[in-house]
Amino acid sequence: MTSTIGSTVLGYPRIGPNRELKRALENYWASRISEAELRNIARDLRIDTWRSLRQAGLDSVPGNTFSFYDHVLDTAVTFGAVPRRYADLGLSPLDTYFAMARGVESTPPLELTKWFDTNYHYLVPEIGPDTRFFLADHGVLEQVREADELGIPVRPVLVGPVTFLLLSKPDSEAAPGFRPLDTVDELVDAYAELLRELARAGVEWVQLDEPAFAADRTEAELAALREAYRSLGSLAERPKLFVAGYFGDLGEALEILSAAPVEAVGVDFVAGDPGLDSLAALPGLRDKTLVAGLVDGRNVWRTDLDRALTTAATLLGLAGEVAVSSSCSLLHVPYDVEAESSLDPQVASWLAFARQKVHEVVVLGRALREGRDAVAEELAAARRVVTDRVNAERVRDEQVRRRLAGLRPRDTRRADYDVRREAQQEALRLPPLPTTTIGSFPQTADVRRTRAALRRGGIDHDTYISRMRAEIERVVRLQEELGLDVLVHGEPERNDMVQYFAEHLAGFADTEHGWVQSYGSRCVRPPILFGDVSRPEPITVEWAAYAASLTDRPVKGMLTGPVTILAWSFVRDDQPLADTAKQVALAIRDEIADLEAAGLGVIQVDEPALRELLPLRAHRHKEYLDWAVEAFRLATSGARASTQVHTHLCYSEFGDVIDAIAALDADVTSIEAARSRMEVLGDLEAAGFARGVGPGVYDIHSPRVPEVAEIVELLRAALASVPPSRLWVNPDCGLKTRGYAEVEPALRNLVAAATEVRRTLG
Ligand code: GLN
Ligand code: ZN
Repeated sequence: MTSTIGSTVLGYPRIGPNRELKRALENYWASRISEAELRNIARDLRIDTWRSLRQAGLDSVPGNTFSFYDHVLDTAVTFGAVPRRYADLGLSPLDTYFAMARGVESTPPLELTKWFDTNYHYLVPEIGPDTRFFLADHGVLEQVREADELGIPVRPVLVGPVTFLLLSKPDSEAAPGFRPLDTVDELVDAYAELLRELARAGVEWVQLDEPAFAADRTEAELAALREAYRSLGSLAERPKLFVAGYFGDLGEALEILSAAPVEAVGVDFVAGDPGLDSLAALPGLRDKTLVAGLVDGRNVWRTDLDRALTTAATLLGLAGEVAVSSSCSLLHVPYDVEAESSLDPQVASWLAFARQKVHEVVVLGRALREGRDAVAEELAAARRVVTDRVNAERVRDEQVRRRLAGLRPRDTRRADYDVRREAQQEALRLPPLPTTTIGSFPQTADVRRTRAALRRGGIDHDTYISRMRAEIERVVRLQEELGLDVLVHGEPERNDMVQYFAEHLAGFADTEHGWVQSYGSRCVRPPILFGDVSRPEPITVEWAAYAASLTDRPVKGMLTGPVTILAWSFVRDDQPLADTAKQVALAIRDEIADLEAAGLGVIQVDEPALRELLPLRAHRHKEYLDWAVEAFRLATSGARASTQVHTHLCYSEFGDVIDAIAALDADVTSIEAARSRMEVLGDLEAAGFARGVGPGVYDIHSPRVPEVAEIVELLRAALASVPPSRLWVNPDCGLKTRGYAEVEPALRNLVAAATEVRRTLG
């Protein structure tokens, strides 16, 4: 048994190299396989992971990185935080778990929200004064035994108690003012119980993750961290404790952890290098293991091993021992680059997915222990990749660079809003409270089949075009018949709003198997942005122009904005994000010019991810929002005054981004608002927003068809904050996941409600 961490990763993908878990889950939910069959598949996936991590040569293999749905939900269930409405369903433990994750007919699921600033989503635990924490589920221990049987001792990984509570929300029984963190002492006792059991099972190390401390925290929250680890560290019977913080600089929390009675502390040197001086000022580290996260766990580039080793070498005197790891769990990257057969070989040679990253960690560990010579070949190979990337022709496009260098302030400014408004009214002649949709119409089985057939070569390009045109015509006729004011083409040609653009822009590569878990069984395949971005030819113009040719009503061109394209891709790490965003913005700008030239007078640039990329620490918000807004404005400011620029945002909690939304300077902004009953409008107006606004009047996430009366009521509520001249009427988001059976009546009611409210305006 090893006694040091040496080399390790903080977590591993769990969906299966071929998305085996996704398929198994879907089969189980559809009652096509039994619970026993599902559990067997899960066990096989765990065993494969442990074996491959051990064979790759990691000194410490993480355990408990598997999850049927989500690791935060697992933690809640482990410690008995199951809200009564799920426990009362009388289901088996596994089905109770899935009820919390997905809901059942009578009971909606727990809220799903983003895991820090990643694209992974976790289920928000509900904690109240009546929550009784105890070691309710022994899955963690069972997995330890499972691994032991294979002769692979593992280091169970759990969300730490303080982060767990900081990610939770008060349940419905909690009095105002109650915070989940108020229960930390009881939760720590339950963790203590688990630690005791793990020690008895012979577990040597346990990893507790506290990434919540990469964000700003209050004194009380920091004190809770200090107390929690003082108390867990003082247990008589426990494994060694490794506390990992990642996704950014831990700040004061690092001081607290380095002084706590734990054996190892993890620091993310990729996202939050604290700097040598701060580390040197932590005497507590001298008798601990510092687990240095040197291999980026969130992006797909091969590590500059020389640089990583130099960082590691400077740490040697500062801690009792230095171990190496991934910067965070590898959950956020795909399994294996070698599974990719159609990637350009040069681009592929620059990439490291989970399997390659494990190897990098192992190499770094050996270099630290045995010296650089022991891994000379690997270091040389990594060095070659670094130079190859720097010099690669396909990464630099001088024309793009010259264009960026030549940008002037007026390239991000449009005419005054008043001038634009008049020109647009003149051109479009829209009624008050104009009706529109967010862009996509239902992606029917037929539409998907047609796209798949083209991909597989089952139909030729002309057949594809004519089928898509038929779909567009159908959607246009439907919108005319429904009486919508601003029409869309429906986006049938798009698989995904980011992937579609990535496939048509230079500088991006696509993977075949690069799946990453987004939540539960849902996976995404982010494109890889590796080089300077340009637009070889128009992307959306033919589809949009075709739609416009079919009708006298205005048709809205539909584009994805630069920030969202970056947020949902793996992005190059060799230049600031702000520069990459500008390149994407220029490509969108050109697309807008071409849409205008083709006669489109309304163009929407979607930025649903604007808020997602917001840095965890408040002091970094401004810098981010500045470049994000700048990129959007660069994309849209080439539009003529008479062209109406729309944007769409997919959330209703504005808080930190409200000024940025106003600064986008879009003529019309559609936002999610139905679930918060238009509250967002008051906030917007209070912040001085004085443009067109389309608060969503019904929630497209549910199949329910809204009544006319209820939409009328929402519009009246909206009119309390927004004058009729600026109010738009639209759903909350795109309709692609819905069926026509709901969409048709819902839009019919939406138009009827707008008509009714217009009439009362006189
Ligand atoms: N235009 C896109 C659509 O309607 C917007 C999607 C989104 O906001 N995520 O599908
Ligand atoms: Zn949306």
